[in-house]
Amino acid sequence: MVKTKETKPKTMYDNVMQQFNSVADRIALNPNIRKILGITNNEIVIHFPVRMDNGNVEVFTGYRVQHNNALGPYKGGLRYHPTVDVEAAKALAIWMTWKTSLAGLPYGGAKGGIQIDPRDYSIGELERITRRFTYALGDNIGPEHDIPAPDVNTNAQTMAWIADTYMSTKAPSERSKNLHVVTGKPVGTGGLEGRDRATGYGVYLTTKLYLESKGESYNGKTITVQGFGNVGYWAAKFAVADGAKLIAVQDAHATLYDEKGIDVEELHQHSKPRKGSIKGYEKATEIDPSSFFGLTCDILIPAALGNQLTEETAGAVKAKLVAEGANGPTTDAGERILLANGVTIIPDILCNSGGVIGSYFEWLQNRNGELWQLDEVMQKLERKLTEVFKKVEEEVNTNKVDWRTAAYTIAIKRIEMAYTQRGIFP
Ligand code: GLU
Repeated sequence: MVKTKETKPKTMYDNVMQQFNSVADRIALNPNIRKILGITNNEIVIHFPVRMDNGNVEVFTGYRVQHNNALGPYKGGLRYHPTVDVEAAKALAIWMTWKTSLAGLPYGGAKGGIQIDPRDYSIGELERITRRFTYALGDNIGPEHDIPAPDVNTNAQTMAWIADTYMSTKAPSERSKNLHVVTGKPVGTGGLEGRDRATGYGVYLTTKLYLESKGESYNGKTITVQGFGNVGYWAAKFAVADGAKLIAVQDAHATLYDEKGIDVEELHQHSKPRKGSIKGYEKATEIDPSSFFGLTCDILIPAALGNQLTEETAGAVKAKLVAEGANGPTTDAGERILLANGVTIIPDILCNSGGVIGSYFEWLQNRNGELWQLDEVMQKLERKLTEVFKKVEEEVNTNKVDWRTAAYTIAIKRIEMAYTQRGIFP
């Protein structure tokens, strides 16, 4: 992965606040509401002990930051990554507030996780770490209060452990009422058919809608993808099925290139047993990681971590379209360079919102005791994402602003309206 070396290193938190402040200025956001949205409501930091396989005890640090719940319960993922800390969780929680608001969901925004590299632990250890963290969080989460979901390095299995642990702390007669304390669970234990692909599908679909608005399609387009986790894999899979060619993939361990096209499914099968790493795939050439962003292609999909397209890397980008599968992959300085170079950015809060929209469907399914079919889920997802895309497109065209500004404008105005109508207690 390419490291950023800006003179004054900016954090994801600096980035999200800069984005917020610039839109707040532009729309003359009510100053009182600006104060409220400029802070995170709750920042929970928990240290908890877990017994390791070798019998020793290790102490871990977990985080949950709840930014704002004006529109409904806090919502957002839990990531397991060495970069997780309060500042990162704050930034990611704020992005969730904008994302759920933009999508018109009855949720606020939160994010959290544990500062670990899950590769360092056995499955048994990860289960104990997850369960103990859930127990320590206690009623800081809850099906009508704060609903976690998968994020970087967490998955349906992680969510099943959380649901089971949380439900086990409730009285027997209350347990099943709490199944929707997390979303992204395995199908068969309350999970939604299609939730696994929802984020990647959203990246694919919003990009397709953008291409169509320019009279274009995926057919013959070359794409490069950074990150081959759940988001990168599914986005590439849908795009290639629609005629695109995947010419490069980068993860934390390797950068692969093949101008003839990389087989998405074969690469996925290769990476699965290697804890998700693409390294060692022999049907493509391994290239220097620093050349990734400068590769000639039509669409660049950053689907890994934040702060990737920076002052240092953005100038090299040849793609005319950046579809943000990750949260916060473009810094403010990176964005200015891309926009000046005529690159369109489909912003994260629109581009990767398929995940949380899928989560909302799962939450409704659990809450109402229903079981939705895959085709029904994909139809609803398509309809919802298209509706959100059109709203942003209209804002772009009417006010002649870039896509991030348009998306933020809609998201922030919806929350402003809620506060204006409801007032501030007491
Ligand atoms: N972690 C995903 C995101 O960043 C999904 C969150 C959710 O479903 O609550 O949007």
